[in-house]
Amino acid sequence: MQKDHFFTRRRMLLAGAATLGAAGTARGVLAGGATETTRAAPPVSGPQARQALKPSAFRLQPLTGDGPPHTEPRKLKVRREPILQISGRGRRMMLTFDDGPNPDYTPHILDALDKYDVRAMFFVCGECVADYPELVARMADEGHVVGNHTWTHPLLTTLNRKQIHSEMKRTSDIIEHTYGEPPQWFRAPYGAWNRAAFQLGAEMGMEPMAWTVDTTDWMEPGTDTIIDRVESGAAPGVVVLSHDAGGDRSETVHAIREWLPYLLDSGYHLTVPPRRV
Ligand code: ZN
Repeated sequence: MQKDHFFTRRRMLLAGAATLGAAGTARGVLAGGATETTRAAPPVSGPQARQALKPSAFRLQPLTGDGPPHTEPRKLKVRREPILQISGRGRRMMLTFDDGPNPDYTPHILDALDKYDVRAMFFVCGECVADYPELVARMADEGHVVGNHTWTHPLLTTLNRKQIHSEMKRTSDIIEHTYGEPPQWFRAPYGAWNRAAFQLGAEMGMEPMAWTVDTTDWMEPGTDTIIDRVESGAAPGVVVLSHDAGGDRSETVHAIREWLPYLLDSGYHLTVPPRRV
């Protein structure tokens, strides 16, 4: 199976790329820049988010060449490093789930988030969106934020600019069609960023989002280890990385049922970035 092959290769790459992801964590960057920190409005969550992310009528239509007109993205300032944590006062944290959607795990993650009325970010791969668009539609319906994680999850630093553009653009397009609006956030596979990825992301209206705490669920270290990683890593501004696809993610699913109520009981407000207009 090509897919198995892909994931085996992915693990190998992950092992090598782990340091890339961790390399930048010493320096935090405020999410969204100064404008966001001064914003007085509460973070987008609850019914507000549902309204803001109300799916468009065209969302579930088949993907054809004559689909809806594309929204022209607003170009952003080119960053030199990704955002690693979120800003704002209080005990705010953000949950992110990468590599999906996947029918075996994503629905369980969504159920857990729904149970506690929490919104999260999902960095999806375009090829998975093509296979399971209904899961992205559910993310939209339930107020989650969907980001771009490329089409095939390649190590971008091995690709040329044209290839990187294709990986990112195709994924933004399918997100726009299935989610209802183009993504405003991008995450490089393996946390391996390069200048082209920052530039192209900015051109496509996406901010680069990394993470603060890696649950290491991709190594399948055991449910208890994942729970411990999240609970011991919890702190104001932290962005948590988990995966809802890319391997057996049953530990991730079991773990979130434990650590999610723990974080809420500890007084954390789990948030998503405000939508830029
Ligand atoms: Zn990934």
